Amino acid sequence: MTATTATRSIPFFNYPKLYAEREEEYVAAIRDVLSRGAYIMQKDLAEFEESLARLIGVKHAIGVADGTNAIILGLKAAGVGPGDEVILPSHTFVATASAVNFVGGIPVLADCGRDHLIDAASVERLITDRTKVIMPVQLNGRTANMDPLLALATKHGLKIVEDSCQALGSRFKDRYAGTFGVAGAFSFYPSKTLGAFGDAGAVVTDDDEAADLIKLIRDHGRGADGKVKLFGLNSRLDNLQAAILNLRLQTYEQDIARRRAIASMYDERLSGLSQLLLPPAPGSENDHFDIFQNYEIEADDRDGLRTYLEGRGVRTIIQWGGHTIHQFDDLKLRSDASYTEAMTQRFMLLPMNTSLSDDDIGYICDCINAFYRR
Ligand SMILES: *Cc1c(COP(=O)(O)O)cnc(C)c1O
Repeated sequence: MTATTATRSIPFFNYPKLYAEREEEYVAAIRDVLSRGAYIMQKDLAEFEESLARLIGVKHAIGVADGTNAIILGLKAAGVGPGDEVILPSHTFVATASAVNFVGGIPVLADCGRDHLIDAASVERLITDRTKVIMPVQLNGRTANMDPLLALATKHGLKIVEDSCQALGSRFKDRYAGTFGVAGAFSFYPSKTLGAFGDAGAVVTDDDEAADLIKLIRDHGRGADGKVKLFGLNSRLDNLQAAILNLRLQTYEQDIARRRAIASMYDERLSGLSQLLLPPAPGSENDHFDIFQNYEIEADDRDGLRTYLEGRGVRTIIQWGGHTIHQFDDLKLRSDASYTEAMTQRFMLLPMNTSLSDDDIGYICDCINAFYRR
């Protein structure tokens, strides 16, 4: 870093800027919904569900309240109930495991590999007679290598339900995250690649029966004829949020292209540092198309680096407050997570969002290089 470089202020996420970029359109969309009085299960939701299904080539997309509800309904569609074990990675948001618990299942925690996604060898070690589902988490916008997981599912008669909350548009071998198993769950939490102005989520499935069940449960178990067929929930995706998501979906491809460009810049400027482990660069692997929900690295002297960056106006964060699920002792879960255990001393997120300029990324890289070359 040269002495003339002024200190910048780079927030980890900039919601006001994101809003300001398209304020007129957002306000027009909101006014349109309000003037129609179209609040619950209206055409904006139907349009969003159709667009989402088309985007990832799946038969049904069903809007629900949030990503956690999406996982719960996906597990319900896979028939998970009391006593069933579901294998998921320890390196995920606690909601992945909570959803399993809420349908009566038992979360069992697998390790991750160097790309921070679920490790198939670890999954295999955890399979028992009670295992019902493997739930890969398509973390940070990357789809896991699904081949060994699909092979394990076939060999042991297990179902796959994906927590693809961080991976809308991500692909493995040209197949989209969320479409590999019975169901896939998406979150449109504001900081997700497709973010609403509040909570929102969706479940996707190619299975007609699963779709019918999910639609029943999200709306109090009521069928199209108004009769209650089973006990359900209120887990509807708000129509106003759907209208916002319709707008944001229009530029989604550009947003992903920008995230991938930022990842390439990070890779170019940081891959020479032996103190860091970076995610695979965009285009460096034929089988993966990553959308970079996050740019998660491992770093020597991670806490020192974060403090140094903070002092230069660069805000970074550590996912899940630095604890993966097997480290929450009070949850008393079975795990196989030695890589994950070591990784939690080293992992952190660099800023990754569409509000960042090329100069911001250059500045962040200058600071990181300066830290390790002191
Ligand atoms: C965001 C997220 C969720 C939960 O989504 P909500 O919409 O906040 O309920 C679940 N799993 C992962 C991996 C997530 O990143």
